Amino acid sequence: MAEDEHSGRQPEKLIFELSSPGRRGTRLPEIDVPSRPLDELLPQESRRSEPPPLPQVSEADTVRHFTRLSTLNHHVDSGFYPLGSCTMKYNPKFHESLARLPGLCGLHPFQPAETVQGTLCLMYRLGRWLCEISGLDEITLQPAAGAHGELTGLLMIRALLTDRGDPRSKVIIPDSAHGTNPASARIAGYGVVQVRSNEKGQVDVEALKRVLDDQVAALMLTVPNTLGLFESQIVQIAEMVHRAGGMMYMDGANLNALLGLVRPGDMGFDVVHFNLHKTFSSPHGGGGPGSGPLGVKKELAPYLPVPVIVKREEGNFVLDADRPRSIGRVQAFYGNFAVMLRAYAYLRSLGPEGLRRVSENAIINANYLMRRLQPVFDLPYQQHCQHEFVLSGKKFRAQGVRTLDIAKRLLDFGVHAPTIYFPQIVSEALMIEPTETESRQSLDAFVEAMVSIAGEAESDPQLLKTAPHSTPLARLDEVKAAQDLKLRWQPEG
Ligand SMILES: *Cc1c(COP(=O)(O)O)cnc(C)c1O
Repeated sequence: MAEDEHSGRQPEKLIFELSSPGRRGTRLPEIDVPSRPLDELLPQESRRSEPPPLPQVSEADTVRHFTRLSTLNHHVDSGFYPLGSCTMKYNPKFHESLARLPGLCGLHPFQPAETVQGTLCLMYRLGRWLCEISGLDEITLQPAAGAHGELTGLLMIRALLTDRGDPRSKVIIPDSAHGTNPASARIAGYGVVQVRSNEKGQVDVEALKRVLDDQVAALMLTVPNTLGLFESQIVQIAEMVHRAGGMMYMDGANLNALLGLVRPGDMGFDVVHFNLHKTFSSPHGGGGPGSGPLGVKKELAPYLPVPVIVKREEGNFVLDADRPRSIGRVQAFYGNFAVMLRAYAYLRSLGPEGLRRVSENAIINANYLMRRLQPVFDLPYQQHCQHEFVLSGKKFRAQGVRTLDIAKRLLDFGVHAPTIYFPQIVSEALMIEPTETESRQSLDAFVEAMVSIAGEAESDPQLLKTAPHSTPLARLDEVKAAQDLKLRWQPEG
């Protein structure tokens, strides 16, 4: 295969058909102990007449196949992954080995509480620390993802307001919100009212006043917002919403900028969900498993999903399901424990000082990148950012180059693309989140790649529009990829 003329990297050949008749991974010895006849064990009519059409491959073929596949996609262990709003940071491998400890990963969810006291203790402590970090009173670890936490929180708000005899009908959400927010509000049975952002990229307080009435159950805000900016009027906004009888919901999916610096509870939030699979040491992308614990102020605590882990005065832990005002269960069992375990290890290994340094470094890295890229790209909101920032690629439209083309070209430099076309209030948006785990060298390499690409947009726009050139597959037909997804091998013909 010809060497790629643009990058020097060689595209890999995609081979899926490895089957060769008669090849085997393992050959079992002939059975040499007495056994009941096959007909007794499994009647003839339940048996296949022909063997299943499985690929015939050796163990070496199989291992090489999957190892090779694992390197075809970009991942955080192979390179920089600045996907905004996703906190794709490097996660300590040590926590992976803890999550595989047999005493912890071999537990069964039906075990009686007396036999899993250590596990309950670990979950209880994790919950207490998340409450401490966020300034909230009580918590559930059950939700399996951020969006699941949102739905749980909104159902609890609905239950509280219904108990007060004032059920209310709508939730206010800013135009910069993550798409899961309006979706969760609709699923929880609320109407969604959008409030626009002002020229500083923050909630427009005057616009909020106009939509705040006695039907508003909650305001859902992401902090820092999806432009990577801190809502500087948050205390005033919380007072306004509370005065109108509504609750304050914070989408805390990305807590990377706040640890040890500010606490949502102190800012006036009543409910916050966290994504353990973003900030707290679980690898993610590719669909899970995740964990979206939900912390609440006292007032909402009676509505938490059951069971709640309670520490008795004698020091033992129980699973308390006797909570008459609970919204019920949101999980078959207790949530994704291995994700909680990594988060617990992360919190213990960093401690309060270490957590604060995580956020400080995340903020410094983002501001460093933002200021270095500002002269080359458009920066629509000029103030200092938090853990991420949003550029616009709109000036390259003159050459017919779109943000998608810039994102695709980055793959040729060994970098995953930033989040693009989100938030929607920025045209040709590039949302960049470096995280605290990147070194000065990897940030500088990214700046160089972005500057080269900006130069190419002027000198050779066609190069960008046909990128990527060095990946196993070139530009994908994304509609076909989504609609005609092949998730498993099937025999040919
Ligand atoms: C990732 C994210 C979510 C959704 O989290 P999931 O675990 O994917 O459901 C919600 N809000 C924001 C701001 C996010 O970044």
